[in-house]
Amino acid sequence: LAIARNHTATHLLHRALREVLGSHVKQAGSLVAPERLRFDFVHHARTTEEEIGRVEALVNRAVQEDREVRTEVLPFAEAAKRGAMALFGEKYGERVRLVSVEGFSLELCGGTHVARTGEIGPFLVVSESAIGSGTRRIEAITGAGAFRRIQEDRETLARISRVLRATPEEALQRVESLHERIQALEKELAKARTSGAGDRARDLLDRAVPVNGVRVVAAVVDGADSSSLQGIVDRYQSEEKSLVAVLGTKTEGKAFVVGMVSRDLTEKGLSAGDLVGKVAALVGGRGGGKPTFAQAGGKEPEKLAEALGTVPDLVRAALGGG
Ligand SMILES: [Zn+2]
Repeated sequence: LAIARNHTATHLLHRALREVLGSHVKQAGSLVAPERLRFDFVHHARTTEEEIGRVEALVNRAVQEDREVRTEVLPFAEAAKRGAMALFGEKYGERVRLVSVEGFSLELCGGTHVARTGEIGPFLVVSESAIGSGTRRIEAITGAGAFRRIQEDRETLARISRVLRATPEEALQRVESLHERIQALEKELAKARTSGAGDRARDLLDRAVPVNGVRVVAAVVDGADSSSLQGIVDRYQSEEKSLVAVLGTKTEGKAFVVGMVSRDLTEKGLSAGDLVGKVAALVGGRGGGKPTFAQAGGKEPEKLAEALGTVPDLVRAALGGG
């Protein structure tokens, strides 16, 4: 009976799709199983939720009207004259089997059907998707399976509502306002992070040491991650002149080193790539980059402080100041 129910539902669905989407809708394949049905059809546009809702409503109305389902065998020409939907490209014999749903659908079909549409029970579309260009697929369930699905969905909504401490009717609005609040908080957090990074960048700059007229910042920044250190050197590059900065941090058990040389100093033979490469070598790693920006990783983060301590001397040597 489950298969018959889904098979008759397929005929109702076919008819409803033509009603809602247009008579160009053609069946391109179908699968009728005891627990679900699948219907592929030719339609060169996306279907909207509203359209699928109307198709569902049409099928359910035909079910509630409890229409009679009849099968008869008759000459093909006569079936065609009565407007039966036949599958394009299918070979039909001289005599064909016509399945009619009283006042709703006429289809050539050899399958097993229910006697009245009321036996189908609730009809629910569970998915609608494109399966190729111009071909779409609807999956639907009927009968006890559809009723179970309705109960499960209601239970899910009840659980969501409990988590939200709202009634099911209020749940959507509660989710929307939570979503807005999260966006506002994320914006605030980003602002706080930016100003925190700004404070840190200024603190480090205060600790710069002068080397032959060049300011040198070389420091281990505890608790920083690689992206916040990159943010600090980017800020230096856009805001500062006559500055060399090499910063390091321990992140995920490894050393991370990032460095910058302000543009005016690259002409004097200073290179972030060289400095970072030399520091990286001291922490068991390698790396480098451009004269203005470089980064590296290393396996021995415990040596970071010592390695960064060599930066002023490296700058002095590069500037030829001995
Ligand atoms: Zn059929």
